[in-house]
Amino acid sequence: MSSMAYSTALDSSPPSGEAVYGRMASEGLDTSHGAILYLDDISVSFDGFKALNKLSLSIDVGELRCVIGPNGAGKTTMMDVITGKTRPDEGTAFFGQTIDLARLSEAQIAQAGIGRKFQKPTIFEQHTVFENLELAMKSDKRVRRTLFARLSSEARDRIAAMLERVGLAGAAERVAGLLSHGQKQWLEIGMLLMQEPRLLLLDEPVAGMSDDETERTAELFLTLAGKHSLVVVEHDMAFIARIARKVTVLHEGSVLAEGPHEQVQADARVIEVYLGR
Ligand code: ADP
Ligand code: MG
Repeated sequence: MSSMAYSTALDSSPPSGEAVYGRMASEGLDTSHGAILYLDDISVSFDGFKALNKLSLSIDVGELRCVIGPNGAGKTTMMDVITGKTRPDEGTAFFGQTIDLARLSEAQIAQAGIGRKFQKPTIFEQHTVFENLELAMKSDKRVRRTLFARLSSEARDRIAAMLERVGLAGAAERVAGLLSHGQKQWLEIGMLLMQEPRLLLLDEPVAGMSDDETERTAELFLTLAGKHSLVVVEHDMAFIARIARKVTVLHEGSVLAEGPHEQVQADARVIEVYLGR
């Protein structure tokens, strides 16, 4: 288990005397122009093949954006660029107005407030649900250093609130490995949220979920939007219609169409390369 969401290589000591509990580096993020993420003319080549080809994208603070497109369109590569896993050959990526993502390591990007959920849940299967959230919270060094000795009841309250939020309040003492597929996904989302990301990237979060789990995930995402900014890659168009205000369609490494989901779903080019298949 090595998801970057839990890495803490950036050691930024908090200002002395200030309560650090729950405070993240991202609180200093400059979003005065309204956007939290700007990708500008990003290109990535793998052996001459352009996985991303002058991709430009802007995500507003608190927005819930869905990204769709055929296999190989570059959706995962886009997330790899945002999280620093892949470095672009050309173009710029900014988090807020001032943070140039090219200058940060993967761990520093996570610490700055970008969380990522991969398709496969990366939870601690042998631990309880409660312990998983506790571990996720402790992986923030600043919290671990200052919090646990004296604020454990506050920490417990925070975990209890998160259990409630992700619909796992009744499953706190269950071993995570025994949860349903959907519950595991919610647990991992809860673990990411313990780190209070400003921007959350989710790759196919409802794949394999039952209809009921998909609906509960839609409700969860709608409560997260506003407080967080979310970029969701999905293929489930009913789910997208339920949650998204704006949809971006990627094709061959760049934006083919962008707009309200009704408009995108009716776009002849989108039907040709993706929805009509
Ligand atoms: P999507 O997530 O939209 O299905 P990807 O971003 O995974 O698309 O892939 C875009 C293209 O880049 C695909 O053709 C894929 O084969 C290629 N690609 C992705 N990662 C690598 C890599 N590490 N090495 C070589 N080719 C890659
Ligand atoms: Mg992908």
